[in-house]
Formats: sequence, structure tokens, C-alpha cells
Amino acid sequence: MKVGAKTDKGKVREQNEDTFGYRETLFVIADGMGGHQAGEVASAIAVENVLATAIDDDPITSLQNAVLKANAAIMEEVSKNEDLSGMGTTVAILLLVAEQAFISHVGDSRIYQLTDGKLTQLTNDHSFVAELIKNGSITEEEAKIHPQRNVLTRALGTPGHLDFEVNSFQIHDGDKFLLCSDGLTGIVAEKIIKEILISGETPQIIAERLVEQANAEGGTDNITVIVIEV
Ligand code: CA
Repeated sequence: MKVGAKTDKGKVREQNEDTFGYRETLFVIADGMGGHQAGEVASAIAVENVLATAIDDDPITSLQNAVLKANAAIMEEVSKNEDLSGMGTTVAILLLVAEQAFISHVGDSRIYQLTDGKLTQLTNDHSFVAELIKNGSITEEEAKIHPQRNVLTRALGTPGHLDFEVNSFQIHDGDKFLLCSDGLTGIVAEKIIKEILISGETPQIIAERLVEQANAEGGTDNITVIVIEV
């Protein structure tokens, strides 16, 4: 397995509110939100708590625990510090176990799988525009410029019941996985992302090229990618 990763604040934002991390075969990215650096705090807490979660021989329960632990840690931080009220974050987690990829996510950070040149989005965005696309009100292209494209329907750190799933997918030899924040997918077309992923470069070069591409197309948001080749 080879891994490449890159995060960049982009061309417009003052801060980078994205965080990523990994250990062994557990990978996580988080895209935080909230003023006064709260977004950075939320995404950092999420990644730290996911990576600190014990992974045992029950991957589904382990990932459920990881998401709940991250959520509880953010809520606790908010309760201790009023300046952080309203902070939240997305999270996208990938765990590779033998021939299976287990994933869980909240929000609009995504996980893709590339198998034999075919790119599949494994996550469904928990966002307002994703719902509009699903009910046929707007197209994917319209979603990219929709004024409410940043509005999430689910995030870690928001009050109320947290609804999320853990799903598993078969891994094939030579597959690539991509975890990314919407600073990539909100800007760069999937067709271009796929071209870069199948270029035959190392995961690190691919990660850097994906970030360069998002910046070349405006870099209007923080961009974070993890690329894994199995
Ligand atoms: Ca973002």
C-alpha cells in the first residue's frame, strides 16, 4: 500500500480549516466550519479522536465508535468555550481490512474508489444541494455555483441526533482510494480528477497534482486529499 496526502488553504481563504491524518490502514479527513478559528479546532478534534479510537476485529462498530467519539469531543469543547459555539465539521473515514474497505462519513467530504479505470463515489453528500440534485431541482453543474452550496444537512458538533452509516466495499488489486474535501470536488470536474488518478504517478504526486488543479481553477476553498494505492 502506498499513500500520498496534501492539504492547502487555497487561493482565497485566510485559514486552512481542513485537517487530515492516518495511521496504519485508517484514514480520515475533516473540513471544519465556524468563525474565529473554530473550524480549525473542530476538524482537528475530529481527526485526533478518530485516530485515537481503538480498531478491533469488528470494523463496523469501531468506525461507529470513532464518529461518535469525535462528535462527543467537539460538543464537549463547545460546552467549555463559548467562543467555539456553532463550530462543526465534516468527517470522512476509510478503514482497509483485508479485502474490504469500510467507510463512514458525515457532511460533504467524499471518498472515491478507482477500480480498473472506473471512478465511483462511495459517499453521498449530506448537503442541501445534494438533496436538490436528488429530487431533480438542479444539476451537478448548477450545484457547483449554487449560493447555498456550502450548507450541510449533517455535521459533527451540531445538536440533535447524529445520523450516519458505515458501509463496506470490496477491494481489488491495484485499486486507488481518494478522500477529499469539497475544496477539490466543488471546483474540479470528476472527469479531470479521474484523469489525474489514472496518470500512473505515485500517490504523493497525484495528491499534489489534484491540489494544483483546484488552485489552477480558482482555489476558492481549502483543499485536502489523501490518495491510497493498494
Ligand atoms: Ca470546504
